[in-house]
Amino acid sequence: MSTITDGYLDNPIFPIVSAVAEESGVRAFVIGGYVRDCFLGRKNNDIDIVVEGSGIALAEAVGRKVRSKVSVFKNFGTAMLRYKGTEIEFVGARKESYRRDSRKPIVEDGTLEDDQKRRDFTINAMAFSLQKNDYGALVDPFGGIKDLAAGIIRTPLDPDTTYDDDPLRMLRAVRFVSKLTTPEHPFHIVPESLESIKRNSGRLKILSKERIVDELNKILLTARPSVGFKLMDQTGLLEYILPQLIKLKGVETVEGKGHKENFSHTLQVVDNVADEELRGIAAGTLKNFEPEQDGDGFIETVRTEPYVWLRWAALLHDIGKPVTKRFDPEAGWTFYGHDIVGARMIPKIFQSLKMPLNEKMKYVRKLVGLHLRPISLVDDGVTDSAVRRLLFDAGNEIGDLMLLCNADITSKNPVKVARLKANFDAVKEKLAEVEAKDAIRNFKNPISGDYVMELFGIEPCSVIGELKEYVKNAILDGKIDNNFDQADQIMREKALEYGLRPVDGS
Ligand code: ATP
Ligand code: MG
Repeated sequence: MSTITDGYLDNPIFPIVSAVAEESGVRAFVIGGYVRDCFLGRKNNDIDIVVEGSGIALAEAVGRKVRSKVSVFKNFGTAMLRYKGTEIEFVGARKESYRRDSRKPIVEDGTLEDDQKRRDFTINAMAFSLQKNDYGALVDPFGGIKDLAAGIIRTPLDPDTTYDDDPLRMLRAVRFVSKLTTPEHPFHIVPESLESIKRNSGRLKILSKERIVDELNKILLTARPSVGFKLMDQTGLLEYILPQLIKLKGVETVEGKGHKENFSHTLQVVDNVADEELRGIAAGTLKNFEPEQDGDGFIETVRTEPYVWLRWAALLHDIGKPVTKRFDPEAGWTFYGHDIVGARMIPKIFQSLKMPLNEKMKYVRKLVGLHLRPISLVDDGVTDSAVRRLLFDAGNEIGDLMLLCNADITSKNPVKVARLKANFDAVKEKLAEVEAKDAIRNFKNPISGDYVMELFGIEPCSVIGELKEYVKNAILDGKIDNNFDQADQIMREKALEYGLRPVDGS
């Protein structure tokens, strides 16, 4: 045991927990991610306390002392309180054993050591003592410190046992590699553990989708998600999570012509999005737009956290490529319509993972469906009306769409990249120009259905929709300005073709 200095236990809650534990006659320890992150020099505002005794009772005693509300989760035997911006979770030390024929672990009260054994990785099993006699001492029975320094993910017990007891730990191994790896300090899963994951990958099937997606989201939110996805692919885990992504792998060659390797391209795009987001967050320039609650405008805020749904959009942006792939002797490999086909695949993919089918899904679907538009604009000419249409279709998602589109430029050919980026900048400029001029982003048709019905004295019918569509197109094409008077005039002219005249003779 070594004694910790360096201010790892600076948070004023620690001496309080220590004193209350002593009064209660129990031993308490800081354990898990907080301890790990101390040694990595990473900020962590979640503190886990393990108690040899009742975690709930200690939490309640500490809560009384600091006058803080305690949330008790009886089913899990845990309790949580907040103190000066940190979240402190208390749990009783447990001893867990599993029987082969039952998924339900037998849980008994245990010692710190028992509890450390049932943790997932050596680097997550370290504890700091909060006892008076050895306050701050590191309790590290499995060599977590050594593994941390070497960048190793290793299970405290035999990996087959650890992964079999809770298969989610396989995904957690991947997550910690993805999250902790930096260019200076890479992490890897120790070989026997990696082999064990390959053997046990199929056990993911017994997990709830919610637990899987939770880890997946955390992997997507790391600074370099490609690290995690490559590992999931390598270990066979991906097959049980997102088999659609595996279909992106490989390069086919016909008549000496190959195409882009779409799996690594996709991962590169996700990494690019992550880079771009983190840069924007650091600079305070990452904008977020949300529709106004009651009104036609939008609320502009600055994002301070990465947006997981943007990362999903990046991950799935080319998901329609495998089914649309064709070889044309003239044009070579094509993926015509992969944007539209991909967008159509999104609800099913979300459903298969039990992810929400609400506006988050619609957001991802929209970005996938539009991801080719900004760049293809250049080929069709960056006209005002084309830009207006893009703004209209993307709405509040225009910023994210442009970010994704920029991240999608990954050619190995520097000349091509330079050309695409220059084109892209031209689109961006034009977008800003058009946006400043016309309020298209939150387009609302100046002509309402009610108005048309009343004006012509007609019942609801398809003509109303056609007239409104005509007005919308006239505005987007720049034939008229976005205002009622011009819209009304052009609508009345069009209505004449249907034989409609205002009932008041106006
Ligand atoms: P993060 O900073 O990402 O929250 P963490 O290490 O705190 O990392 P948590 O998921 O919050 O991760 O879990 C807290 C601790 O609980 C872990 O450090 C680990 O000791 C233990 N733990 C969590 N989930 C499991 C699991 N499925 N199996 C074994 N131990 C686990
Ligand atoms: Mg945590």
